[in-house]
Amino acid sequence: MPFPQERPRRMRRTEALRSLVRETALAPDDLVWPLFAVPGSRVRNPVKSMPGVFQLSVDELAAEAQAGWDAGVRSVILFGVPEKKDAAGSGAYAEDGIIPRAVRALKEKVPGLIVMTDVCMCEYTDHGHCGLLRPPHSGGPGQELGVDNDATLELLAKEAVAHARAGADVVAPSDMMDGRVAAIREGLDVAGFPDLPILSYAAKFAGAFYGPFRDAAESAPREGPGIPEDRKGYQMDPANAREAMREVALDLAEGADMVMVTPAVPYLDIVRQVRDRFDVPVAAYHVSGEYAMIKAAARAGWIDEERVMLETLLCIRRAGADFVLTYYARDAARLLTGARR
Ligand SMILES: [Zn+2]
Repeated sequence: MPFPQERPRRMRRTEALRSLVRETALAPDDLVWPLFAVPGSRVRNPVKSMPGVFQLSVDELAAEAQAGWDAGVRSVILFGVPEKKDAAGSGAYAEDGIIPRAVRALKEKVPGLIVMTDVCMCEYTDHGHCGLLRPPHSGGPGQELGVDNDATLELLAKEAVAHARAGADVVAPSDMMDGRVAAIREGLDVAGFPDLPILSYAAKFAGAFYGPFRDAAESAPREGPGIPEDRKGYQMDPANAREAMREVALDLAEGADMVMVTPAVPYLDIVRQVRDRFDVPVAAYHVSGEYAMIKAAARAGWIDEERVMLETLLCIRRAGADFVLTYYARDAARLLTGARR
């Protein structure tokens, strides 16, 4: 047997050699920290299914973001739980709604922070869907019950404008209505925000990984007549990769500046395909269920939480994500900046 010429091990001998040839880096500024704003003051409700994550009143949220900033986190994305939910989701586009209030507080407390806002209806509608529902019994031929895509677009645009007026740096529509990026772009342009970027949840897959998030955002669909039991009518089928490329292409054609794939780890092939096909910034959302699984295994003593967390985030970057939305943002940033010192 000939002596092997190729010996990749040669470059793995020391940490200095390994870092010399390392292809992917993970840095705190690649991370976006999702935060949940709720009404009230001095509210800090732990989210049971997501240890370490809290529903925060605006004052607490500002303090939390400051703590994140001190650890090296440079971006947050906000989700809001309103005082009151109704069928029209009016809390979503109220100029003094929970998100505009939170954005103003963050801009004041942590001026350098990038504040992204989630644009969707599901936290604000009493039925829990991401858009307006057609009234029961309205379904004539070709008019099925469920979410009224086109009627929702105008509200999403209003919501994005309300966030922009409060000072948001990026708006991120997660509703998966067709045509919403174009509607939001037009709304922002008309309202005087032509330079505000849109990060679209372009390939958002329907599935079970969002369970804990719905506890945190109180946005699980309610059961009832005329209310679809899940989001499969507008979010993507986990079986489809080609369709994800079509969704991304459509959102970019409508004016999205950055695109997101969510969830992350079970969909790394999608992240890679988007990276290879489109020359725009690509984000991946390491979602609540993914976070909860690591937490649970770590709490049981079955895995090393810090190492699994950093490996997971690094691998999402390696698959092609420029940045990662993760509930681990502050913890990871702390470890990464600590390691650099
Ligand atoms: Zn939604």
